[in-house]
Amino acid sequence: MADLYAVTSLQSRPASGTVYICCNCRVPVGDNSDWSGKHNDDNVVLLRVVTQFVKRGKLMTSRDPHDAGSRYRLLSCNNCSNVLGRFYSSTPAHLEYKLNLFNIDNNAIQEYIFGLSYQQAIETSEAPITLELCDSYEEELKKQKLLLEMLLKRLSKLEDEISPTGQGSSENKMTA
Ligand SMILES: [Zn+2]
Repeated sequence: MADLYAVTSLQSRPASGTVYICCNCRVPVGDNSDWSGKHNDDNVVLLRVVTQFVKRGKLMTSRDPHDAGSRYRLLSCNNCSNVLGRFYSSTPAHLEYKLNLFNIDNNAIQEYIFGLSYQQAIETSEAPITLELCDSYEEELKKQKLLLEMLLKRLSKLEDEISPTGQGSSENKMTA
């Protein structure tokens, strides 16, 4: 049987600064620094890491024809319960590229390209500041704040991983 999921159907990596947000409540789900592939055939984005807004359900066995026998956890939005996709912990051989990745359903998320509306705003900056422009600045600031919070959480998680026993840098005495 031919491999239906050839690597060639993976799209190229999205523009840097792409953030995926829940299409229902707009919390950040992940971003393209953790992007592992995008599959046209089954309409998912594959991410290695997601934000704390993604909740994993209990382990289930798929009975769907395309991935029968796979073991996965259903992913949902922590904030609004929108179903976001699946996390596979075992798959048939032809779906191995999905393994141990967050398979986020394209229909459950929106792509927000960081900084795009800023660029548009700059292009029109000769024009007087309108109410709509103010709204778009405000919207942009909200998104950037969310992104910043997400990055800070990731940073502190990384710091924890680097120093798992807690006897790391804070114990080191600084000598002048
Ligand atoms: Zn949501």
